[in-house]
Amino acid sequence: MKIAIYPGTFDPITNGHLDIIERASEMFDEVIVALARNSQKSPLFSESERQALVEQSLAECCPHRKNIRTDAFQGLLVEYATKRGATAVVRGLRAMSDFEYEFQMALMNRKLAPEVTTVFLMPHEEYTYLNSTIIRELAWYGKDVSTFVPKAVANALREKFEIRYH
Ligand code: ADP
Repeated sequence: MKIAIYPGTFDPITNGHLDIIERASEMFDEVIVALARNSQKSPLFSESERQALVEQSLAECCPHRKNIRTDAFQGLLVEYATKRGATAVVRGLRAMSDFEYEFQMALMNRKLAPEVTTVFLMPHEEYTYLNSTIIRELAWYGKDVSTFVPKAVANALREKFEIRYH
């Protein structure tokens, strides 16, 4: 049984994340989409909001994929991966700009837990420019982001910023 962890902040989850999750679900017996609790970033959405959006988005995009699960973790990723019996950590690579940081993380993680391999997947070209920060910014300026994110996320962003404007 090959288990992979796909960790992230998912603030919020986008179609780029979902592309990577679907690709991973074809390669592994089980993919655990793992929300990082102790993110260094201060997220727009709370942990429970991000988790709910991940679940709703998966139900929306790929209900047929029975091998995708969701979870949240804190602490060191490799310790969590080992605890879950995972042998792979999946990361998305969009551009060279992702590379340096991801490369350092992957090597450090290999040092800490040689049995866990980092696997990099490239999304479809149309998602290579997409990231959660840009989505939050567009939504903040009132732009429609529904071509970049699942419906549940577009609605949640609309609600979040409507509340802020009042
Ligand atoms: P983190 O805080 O770990 O960077 P993110 O939620 O921003 O968490 O991203 C999680 C993973 O998804 C990272 O490997 C990131 O490179 C990848 N990712 C984010 N957006 C995209 C995208 N549009 N296409 C492919 N991979 C992506």
